[in-house]
Amino acid sequence: MIKDFKKILLAIFILNPLLALCQWEKYFQEGSIRIDYSHSGRVGIEYYTINRYQKLPFFAGSKTSLIDSTNNGAYKVALFDNKEKKIIYSKGFSSLFNEWLSTKEATNTCGNFEEVLIIPYPKTDVDIVFYSRDSVNNWQEITRTHFEENQVEDLYDNITRKIIPLNKVNKPLEKRLDVVILPIGYTSKEGDKMNKDLKTFNDYLFSIAPYSEMKDKINVIGIEYFCEKSGIPGLKGRENDVNELGVHYNTFGSERYIMTERLWDLNDVLNQTPYDAVILMCNSDVYGGGGIYNYYATCYVGERSREVLVHEFSHSFAGLGDEYSDNDSDAGLSSEKAEPYEKNITTLKNFNKKWKTMIDNSTPIPTPSTKEYDNKIGVFEGAAYKNKGFYRPYQHCMMRDLKPFCPICTKVIKDMLNIYCN
Ligand SMILES: [Zn+2]
Repeated sequence: MIKDFKKILLAIFILNPLLALCQWEKYFQEGSIRIDYSHSGRVGIEYYTINRYQKLPFFAGSKTSLIDSTNNGAYKVALFDNKEKKIIYSKGFSSLFNEWLSTKEATNTCGNFEEVLIIPYPKTDVDIVFYSRDSVNNWQEITRTHFEENQVEDLYDNITRKIIPLNKVNKPLEKRLDVVILPIGYTSKEGDKMNKDLKTFNDYLFSIAPYSEMKDKINVIGIEYFCEKSGIPGLKGRENDVNELGVHYNTFGSERYIMTERLWDLNDVLNQTPYDAVILMCNSDVYGGGGIYNYYATCYVGERSREVLVHEFSHSFAGLGDEYSDNDSDAGLSSEKAEPYEKNITTLKNFNKKWKTMIDNSTPIPTPSTKEYDNKIGVFEGAAYKNKGFYRPYQHCMMRDLKPFCPICTKVIKDMLNIYCN
């Protein structure tokens, strides 16, 4: 009897990817749709306005994990099949708009941010549905729009750019993670430096565990891209300067925070390249970077770039939250009244869904930050920029003080990679 049960279980495991692939073939065709839209509003008001649909010849994401099981991100897009009345695709993400909402300005002024989503090309009659989180982090539908295939345009910017292979993985697109590194702030005279820095960034990514164990699953390429001026604007002396893709320091008044508001132009440069994750390699030796989930990561080129790159990439690829507490730096995005969606942070409001099963019975919750609990999984107060009310799983971690990843973050990164590679 038990043997039969095992056989049935085995059969289900073997059949599941096949069933999922059938779902793909039923609802989707080859290629993807790039949606350029505006995400606008202020605290309490939010709306999405679609600007343009463009057809891309490839889809880099998984064809078997079509429904997002991670529950990560401040926002979510879904494709709703109108005939069968069900969701056939979904993906969570965060964006600069979400961070803007934590600024003082956003309490009474509307902001308008460019965003881009790349979704698989539907075969059937679908609605595109955008969701946001409410005050307790449940999903609320914000905008629903009918997808009109006749509005899909050919690529607006179709320039072929030189690709620099950095870590080649011989697996199909949908069974590997595809990372593209785009150099920003290199002039055509700095081509040699650009190529050298691309190789260094690739080496940095694979120099820290668990990424160092994942070289056979993460395909990395660079794109040759030159700017007119060297360096990154935004700091003293270049406050009002802009570059071709709008990448700058000093985002929302935080000096070391490098971001761009020009997502549409950025994606024009990436049009020829299937990607799951983007890293903007910023030609400046001034410490800085940033990373937003399923959006992009940025990193300067300098002394601590190895750790900063891996830290920011882990925000953008794995959706990990910051484990440091620094009330003076970034404005907090999360409320301690809700359980945060980041898997490495808790407010103890719904800790059962976090790393509770990974803690020894003898470890107190919350856990004192003492020597006794060094290198032990616990619940340590101070995370998500707050000294009080937010807790992290370990005393040290790449997401706190650029030390090796804690066991929780390691697991989250590995789980996320598996979603891309199954
Ligand atoms: Zn961690």
